[in-house]
Amino acid sequence: MEAGIVGLPNVGKSTLFNALTAAGIASENYPFCTIEPNVGAVAVPDPRLDTIQGFIKTQKVIPAILQLVDIAGIVRGASEGEGLGNKFLTHIRNVDAIVHVVRCFEDGDIIHVDGSVDPIRDIETIDTELMLADMQSVEQMADKAKRTARTGDKDAKRRVALLEKCKELLDDGKPVRGLQLDDPADRKEFAMLQLLTAKRVLYVANVEEDDLAGEGPLVQKVRDRAAAEGGEVVAVCARLESELIELDPEDRAEMLESVGLKEPALAVLARGIYTLLGLQSYFTAGEKEVRAWTIPEGATAPQGAGVIHTDFERGFIRAEVYALSDLEEYKSEKAIREAGKLRVEGKEYVLKDGDICHFLFNV
Ligand code: GDP
Repeated sequence: MEAGIVGLPNVGKSTLFNALTAAGIASENYPFCTIEPNVGAVAVPDPRLDTIQGFIKTQKVIPAILQLVDIAGIVRGASEGEGLGNKFLTHIRNVDAIVHVVRCFEDGDIIHVDGSVDPIRDIETIDTELMLADMQSVEQMADKAKRTARTGDKDAKRRVALLEKCKELLDDGKPVRGLQLDDPADRKEFAMLQLLTAKRVLYVANVEEDDLAGEGPLVQKVRDRAAAEGGEVVAVCARLESELIELDPEDRAEMLESVGLKEPALAVLARGIYTLLGLQSYFTAGEKEVRAWTIPEGATAPQGAGVIHTDFERGFIRAEVYALSDLEEYKSEKAIREAGKLRVEGKEYVLKDGDICHFLFNV
């Protein structure tokens, strides 16, 4: 799962990206981090990992991760090729969700590209660029689909109809994520269009250190805007987060307490992205490692196994599954098995958030 950080220049994107991705992720587990400097991994804090570790002695604990991409270069006119222009738009096409950083801090020393701090205008600037880019794609795709539809191709006809609906929304100045689609075939086709404004958005209001609760008037405007779109807002002070990350765990806890925060914004943000994307975790637990894996809600056991390795999905035979509460009650996997609580599940089984699994498979 990958989220792309967007926002105007100087709103704190890089500060936040660096703070989020510096949190000590062992890079050998996540080879992609070392390839691209603007791609990083964020561990998803999960207290259940500690609980499991309390019962199963293990060599290492690996949290679930979210992949983050810092997508710089979005400026007014980007869809027309200004700044990095279309290059960044291609990056957005590949992410599952957008984290939109909005400047809500006043700081005379830090220049705002439009001369003043105004989060709603900023959001609209970015949205406009994304909508303009979508309009271009919609037109290009519609031309092509119309030609194919003339040959009687059913899928192309569906595509033409869908693209027309998208165009209506965009002409109205609305993102296409507002499109209501009941037919699964339409939803599938829509996903294949890969439109930028189809992606779900989590707003990150980058606030002053004295407004960590995000109750100031600027954040409130962002909240109202997000609520109207059915979106979410997380208030973060990127500068504070970047200072926190420099500290060792004890000092960090002390600093968090002194500013009245229960946890670093990283945790809040990771949960926000999880919720936004309808994600959940299951665990594998053994002597070598205890690990959390990310799956979409509704994923079946073979699909879950496929997150570990595609071969595991292909060769899936069955899963042995138990719940965290079983572990708390029986204290060990052996005792769970002896009590007959270790469930054997087949291909149709839909994984539950927090399941602990062993997969059996043919290679
Ligand atoms: P980007 O262009 O969006 O990636 O922005 P940067 O992360 O490079 O930040 C631009 C400037 O704003 C830097 O000088 C940061 O130190 C500063 N900055 C970032 N976050 C905050 C914040 O929460 N408060 C204040 N006062 N300054 C910040």
